[in-house]
Amino acid sequence: MSRLTIDKGLCILCGKCVEACPFDALELKDQVVVNENCRLCGICVKVCPVSALVIERGLSKTVDFDSYKDILVFAEQRGGRLSSVVLELIGKGRELADKLHQKLAVVIPGTNTESLVEKIKQYPVDTIYVYDHPELAYYRAETYTAVLEDLVKEIKPGILLVGATQVGRSLAPRLATRLKTGLTADCTILDVKPNGDLIQTRPAFGGNVMAQIITPKHRPQMATVRPKVMAPSALNTTYPTTVVLQEVKPTMLSSGISFLSIEPKPQETAITEAEVIIAVGRGLKKADDLILIESLAKELGGMVAVTRPLVEAGWCSYTKQIGLSGRTVRPKLIIACGISGAIQFVAGMSSSDVIFAINKDPDAPIFGVAHYGLIGDFYEILPALVNELKSSANL
Ligand code: FAD
Repeated sequence: MSRLTIDKGLCILCGKCVEACPFDALELKDQVVVNENCRLCGICVKVCPVSALVIERGLSKTVDFDSYKDILVFAEQRGGRLSSVVLELIGKGRELADKLHQKLAVVIPGTNTESLVEKIKQYPVDTIYVYDHPELAYYRAETYTAVLEDLVKEIKPGILLVGATQVGRSLAPRLATRLKTGLTADCTILDVKPNGDLIQTRPAFGGNVMAQIITPKHRPQMATVRPKVMAPSALNTTYPTTVVLQEVKPTMLSSGISFLSIEPKPQETAITEAEVIIAVGRGLKKADDLILIESLAKELGGMVAVTRPLVEAGWCSYTKQIGLSGRTVRPKLIIACGISGAIQFVAGMSSSDVIFAINKDPDAPIFGVAHYGLIGDFYEILPALVNELKSSANL
């Protein structure tokens, strides 16, 4: 553990450190006292005229690193259906495992897991660990955390990858706390150093910087990745996979939550699943004009999505928002109409196969990420495009 220490013999009680601290972590009493707000940012150390403050960095690793190796992916399922992010994590996990000359494992908690096992066996996974029990049919924070904790303590993976879904966002922090290790949420890029350190890249400070985070003193290294950020694994039906049935111990099943019934919500196709997206931004003058966007989406068999200002205006549901604080999409085609291309929007769509932008402003940043661009007013361009598509469909 690192900590800030103050040498009372040197301290002249000038108060400069207290004034400089951006977190109100220092108090001037009969001596300078550090409170729980301290983030170890080091500003106080720099301003102290007598070098009375020192950050003691804990240098010791918390576990025996040599005993932690291989990569483990959490296979999230709902009602026996595998979440699509699992195949994306398998793709990335395989790549990282090959780089490190290590193995890739997947853990499935669930019930009647045979079809899930068969599905995962079609991909290049070395080992599938199965915890099969009726009580594990649906996600419950306590039971799934206990299962994952059990496996991590047994097989000691160096890296553990979880989808940044609603389930993953609940499970991963609990598990990281239980395992006393670090967790980086919503990673957009993952890579490894030859020594096994996972380089976890994610947007920070509102998407204005890409932070690279490592977990140098703890194992396993835990990261969550949003769906659609990474490419799914290629099939490999001949890859030799071992399936290990794990014991579900009664202690793993204790939970304060019981299922009374499961009421599925009416199925709404998510923009994350769309192959074609017509996205619109603040160039839209009024909510009623969304009909223009919908008409093009209808012709192309696509879905409508929006930027955050349109959600904030109450013109569209949050589920249609693309971006850092919305959904990440990866369609075959996205047409961005009246969207400037702010970094927070681009973070949610830059992996799309083909990006087509329509904007009146030739200097709009969206043209920097677009494969094709049209400088002009989408109120004129879209009706012409819809007519063209309709008449070519009638040929
Ligand atoms: P604007 O930036 O106002 O751009 C409108 C564009 O439309 C302009 O380029 C203009 O030239 C063009 N235009 C106007 N009329 C026409 C026309 N008739 N024809 C053609 N072009 C026209 N934003 C998101 O979208 N998603 C997020 O998830 C998100 N998360 C955020 C998180 C944080 C922490 C913060 C701080 C911000 C976030 N934002 C997000 C907001 C983001 O910074 C931008 O403000 C937002 O993306 C801008 O939306 P816009 O492109 O629709 O609007």
